Amino acid sequence: MISIIIPVYNEFDCLPILHQRLVAASSSWSEEFECILIDDGSSDRSLELMRDIASKDKRFKVLCFTRNFGHQSAVTAGLCYASGDVVAVMDADLQDPPEELKAFIDRCREGYDVVYAVRTHRKERPLKRMSYWFYYRLLRSLASVDIPLDSGDFCVMSRRVVDTMNALPERNRFVRGLRTWVGYHQAGLEYERGAREAGQPKYTVRTLLNLALDGIVNFSFKPLRVVAIVGVLIGAASFAAAFLFFLQYVTDTTVLGYNPRHAPGWTSLVLAIFFLSGTQLVGMGILGEYIGRLFEETKARPTYLVKEQLNFDHQKSLHPGRPGQR
Ligand code: UDP
Ligand code: MG
Repeated sequence: MISIIIPVYNEFDCLPILHQRLVAASSSWSEEFECILIDDGSSDRSLELMRDIASKDKRFKVLCFTRNFGHQSAVTAGLCYASGDVVAVMDADLQDPPEELKAFIDRCREGYDVVYAVRTHRKERPLKRMSYWFYYRLLRSLASVDIPLDSGDFCVMSRRVVDTMNALPERNRFVRGLRTWVGYHQAGLEYERGAREAGQPKYTVRTLLNLALDGIVNFSFKPLRVVAIVGVLIGAASFAAAFLFFLQYVTDTTVLGYNPRHAPGWTSLVLAIFFLSGTQLVGMGILGEYIGRLFEETKARPTYLVKEQLNFDHQKSLHPGRPGQR
């Protein structure tokens, strides 16, 4: 069986088309499917619509969160509840076309454990496209695992990959990073990322930046190392500068209008203070990012809370939300 995980946050306008296109696309698949819709605390009438779909079509299952926990938590929940031997993750806004799934599933059946989508085109504003382009390259250069370029959460995974991911205990989850970290046999498949079917993107600039930071901080400690290296370089530079100033003093020469014998040295002093306190604050900020995450992980709060579930045969505990503990 194929499980399809779809996080939904205020997608009232997309849901009917999604349902229709998914059912149409499923006619070309040889296996049965279940579709897990995760209502991530929608404030519009999406949940009503999902209940309606679930009551008419038992293949559609609904998980309802107690509030908005975010896209990554919704995908995590979907992975925990999916029972298929092949599991797909896609967006509700039809930017990931359901018709493409067949090619992904076929690839997975050929023996790949993860078939992830690589976006060749994005129908989004140039600034957003550029930021994505830059970010994926930055992430790749920093991350401790080789996270593939231009690939998002749209993918198909085998049961053993899903089981492994579910067993990972970390709570702050950057799903595409974990997926890469798991390993096994992975392949990318190119597709053209369409425009949103309806409505506005649900990721805001703030939540996208959070996701971007999660990706880097959860998969790399290089930023910490960069701080240390910058510190060492600045320390070395200040020694070199002190030596040069000393030479200048002894030889009584003026460089760029500055002569240590005459000038009180105010400018250089103030510049040094500004520069050093700036780098210290950057360093503390980066340390803070890691310490904040340590704090989050030690609190061990669940990644999500489910208050309602529809069409699932096995009633799981309504408060799972703890990957790695089941
Ligand atoms: N989404 C969600 N919770 C959120 C934000 C988004 O479940 O807090 C869902 C949303 O409904 C959609 C998917 O995540 O199905 C991708 O969101 P969006 O289209 O806004 O992201 P983008 O395509 O702009 O990266
Ligand atoms: Mg989208």
